[in-house]
Amino acid sequence: MIDKESYIKGKGLSCPFCEAESVQGGFIQIEAGKAFQEMGCTECEGAWQDVYELIDIIPYKREG
Ligand SMILES: [Zn+2]
Repeated sequence: MIDKESYIKGKGLSCPFCEAESVQGGFIQIEAGKAFQEMGCTECEGAWQDVYELIDIIPYKREG
């Protein structure tokens, strides 16, 4: 398994187990300021979760 830092630096495009670019994202679960996405690799069948943190907002006004 490659280290988390390499996975994150690579923007999560390569599998953290086998480094194949056969990564598929699944269900996203959101909790206070964090989001978790179920991830999987179709090459080695590895599974993991990507963890996202709220870092910014984009304000806008809804029309009407
Ligand atoms: Zn893999």
